[in-house]
This record gives sequence, C-alpha cells and structure tokens, in this order.
Amino acid sequence: STKPRIVVLGAGYAGMMTTKKLMKKLSPEEAEIILVNKHNYHYQTTWLHEVAAGTINQNQVRIMIKDIINPNRVRLIYDTVVNIDKENKTVILENSELTYDYLVIALGYETNTFGIKGMEKHAFFIEDFESCQLIREHIEYQFAKFKNDPEADESSLTILVGGGGFTGIEFVGELVEKVPKLCKKYDIDRGKAKIINVEAAPSILPTFDKDLVDYGRKSLQERGAEILEGTRINECTEEGFLVGDNNELIKAGTIVWTGGVKGSSILGKAGFEITKGRVTVNNDLRVAGHDNIFILGDCAWVMNKEDNRPYPPTAQAAMQHASTCANNIRAILHNEPLEEFVFSDKGTVASLGVTDGMGKVIKDTKLFGKPAAAMKKVVDDRYLFLLGGLKLLLKKGKVRPF
Ligand code: FAD
Ligand code: NAD
Repeated sequence: STKPRIVVLGAGYAGMMTTKKLMKKLSPEEAEIILVNKHNYHYQTTWLHEVAAGTINQNQVRIMIKDIINPNRVRLIYDTVVNIDKENKTVILENSELTYDYLVIALGYETNTFGIKGMEKHAFFIEDFESCQLIREHIEYQFAKFKNDPEADESSLTILVGGGGFTGIEFVGELVEKVPKLCKKYDIDRGKAKIINVEAAPSILPTFDKDLVDYGRKSLQERGAEILEGTRINECTEEGFLVGDNNELIKAGTIVWTGGVKGSSILGKAGFEITKGRVTVNNDLRVAGHDNIFILGDCAWVMNKEDNRPYPPTAQAAMQHASTCANNIRAILHNEPLEEFVFSDKGTVASLGVTDGMGKVIKDTKLFGKPAAAMKKVVDDRYLFLLGGLKLLLKKGKVRPF
C-alpha cells in the first residue's frame, strides 16, 4: 500500500512550523510530506517593514528552507500555487500538478486595497520580501535623483504611508530612523524630506490601548513624522493620495499602502466560501465539508468560542495553528480524537525603530520605549529559536549578547 500524502502550501510561519512538527510527530513510513512554496527561502513577514525601509540587512530576514527542513525527509517544491481542485484532490502549480490525501493551506495574506481607485497601480505594498525590496530601492532612488537635480520638486522626497495600523506605524518607525541617514548620505536638508502617515479612523492603531497609542504617536512626531488621523484616503494617483471630504492632494515621491490585508486569493479561486477575505474553519482547523483540508494562519478565521468572534490573524496565532494542525493530522492517521484550537495570547508589542516601541505583554503589563523595543527583539528571536534552534538564532538573531 502507498503512504498517505500530506501537502503543505506556503512556507510562512504556519507552513514552516506545521512541516517541522509533522516531521517530528510522524515516522517516514507513516506519511509522505511535501512542502510547496513560491521561493526556495522563507522570510519573517513580521520583519518586512524593516526590509521596506532598508533598516535591516536583507539576508537576516531570509532563511533557506532546506537549511531548516531536511529535503531527504520532506519533498520541497519551489513553485507557485495557481489553484486547488478539491474534487480531484489536486493542487495546480505553475509548472506541475500534485495530488494530496491531506492538504494544509498556509498561503498567508495579500494586500487589500478595498477597490480604492489607483491604489493597485500607483502604490507600493508591504506584501512579501520582493515587494519590500522594491520599496527600499525606490526610496533610495528618490534621494539620489533629488541630489542630482537641484531643480527637482521637494515632494519627490516625501514618503506617504496610507493606513495607520500596526504595519503602517511600524514602517513609519523605521522611516524616522532611515530618512535622516539618507539625507546625510545624499547631502539633503532633513527638513525637505517628509514622512506622512494617513489614517481614516479618529486615531492610529484603532484597536490598541490609548496610552500606548499616545506614546507611539508622540514618539513618531518628535522624530519628524506627520500623523494625519481622521483622514480618509479616497484615491491614489501618480502624484499621491486624494484625502478627506475635499479630495485634497498630498503629493509624494514614494507611496506605500498599508491599509489592510486579506487571505490569499487562491482561497476564492478554489471555491471556498470567503468571509471578509478569509475562510472560517472549524475549531479543529478543518474546513466544514472537507475532512482532509486544514486552513491556517492569515488564510483562516478561527472563532474564539468564548465571545464568538474570530481571533485576529497574527504570526503568533499562525504558529499556534501549526501545532494544532500537526497534532490533528497525526490524530487522523492514528484514529484518535482531534483537538480544538485554543489561542494563548502572549500580548502585542510594536516596534518604533531599533530602540523604541510600545506594547502589552502577559498579564496586561505595559512596556514603553527601550524595554518594549528589547521585548520585540526577544519575540523575534524566540521564533527563530523555535524554527531552527540555537544555530539559526546565532546566525540571524536580533539580540546580540556579545
Ligand atoms: P506568511 O507568513 O505570509 O507566509 C505565507 C507564505 O506563503 C510565504 O512564504 C509566501 O511566499 C507563500 N505563498 C504565498 N502565495 C503563494 C502561492 N500562490 N504559491 C506558493 N507559495 C505562496 N504578527 C504578530 O503576531 N506579531 C508581529 O509583531 C507582527 N508584525 C508584523 C509586521 C508586518 C510588517 C506585517 C506585514 C505583519 C506582521 N504580523 C505580526 C502579522 C504576521 O506577519 C502574519 O499574521 C503572519 O505572517 C501570517 O503567517 P502565515 O504563515 O499565514 O503567512
Ligand atoms: P490593519 O487592517 O490592522 O490596519 C489598516 C489601517 O488602515 C487601519 O487602521 C484602517 O483604519 C486604515 N485604513 C483603511 N482604509 C483606509 C483609508 N481609505 N484611508 C485611510 N486609512 C485607512 O492592517 P495591518 O496594519 O497591515 O495589519 C495586518 C495584521 O497584521 C493585523 O492583524 C495586525 O495586528 C498584524 N500586525 C501585527 C504587528 C505587531 O503585532 N507588532 C505588526 C504589524 C501587523
């Protein structure tokens, strides 16, 4: 008889951790495991704002998948998922097709523009490693170009960030550190280069505690960022954003949209029922009506039974999904009962550059400034340790003990 085949789609937080755990929980005789990813590297999505601003060594953010997942144990396929044929239990890739017995969909998020006119065409997105490298290169190019053309319009130096959620605010936190360096490098007056964040809600980080938000806003403003709250973006043009009731134009040389995310568009293509961009899964993380399909991470809504609302999709949650999913695949293969996912909230910390930040950790302890920034680095490093042990931590970690 042939072994059951488990196919994991996407090597982000959820996909990498699920694969790692399956390797541990199942013997090679029990199942064949295949991991499919667009690239031969995994990247830490939670560090992408640093890639976009150019405040981190790009290689620190990328990890070769084969350095973490033994290719002799797991078949690694570097290809793009195009669709899923549930009837025939087949994944359609750009260059081939692949059948499965068990499928784990962990394809992450895509940027959501909510159909705002011109956004797809004129704005950059913090979406994946490559899209963030483009942002970094574009910003640097704007500064280089300005230096060589004294007649140029100063607004070409303006960096406009649309959406003041965690991604937008953490990105601005990197920009306030990067822009002064670029000004120095290209001999440009700091006052000429603006950083502007635009948020529609009355406050940035609408879901966060007021004292933490107040701290973050002040820190960014003191370091030269403009924060426009209660200001809706109606349209994006080649020149900038049109905002507010009067469609006022804010001109910029770099336009980045961080106004929202949704699950992978493959979900809709494959015919899953979509609610606000994601698929609602059962508490065992399977899709209703599909006993052999798990959906994890940013592709999934997992309901919190206590208040009947979905848990927010975060890296923290994606890693915990991976654990439940691997346990449940093992349980199915062993004819044992499946477990239910319960989120264990470790808090939320946002960085505002290398040495500043704010957040809430266990038992509602609040952190501001350096302790928050340090905690964020510890969280980042904890993930590296879980993924690749001490070896990976020493190679790519952020906390430098020596
Ligand atoms: P991802 O990590 O996005 O991985 C998806 C993988 O699938 C990628 O490797 C991608 O290449 C691959 N893929 C996508 N489409 C295809 C395809 N068609 N074919 C093949 N492969 C494909 N959360 C926190 O908990 N804490 C934080 O501090 C935090 N900070 C963040 C900072 C930023 C700048 C951003 C953008 C997000 C942050 N988040 C944070 C949210 C967190 O990053 C996501 O919730 C998390 O990445 C979701 O994990 P995932 O495994 O579902 O998807
Ligand atoms: P988000 O949806 O959390 O924030 C988007 C922001 O854009 C919102 O504040 C929204 O009001 C604003 N917006 C939307 N349309 C607008 C418009 N037309 N004009 C002006 N503003 C508009 O998205 P995100 O920040 O990309 O975060 C995505 C997910 O990743 C969230 O679950 C978040 O918690 C998580 N994340 C966490 C961290 C962290 O823990 N440090 C960091 C980054 C992201």
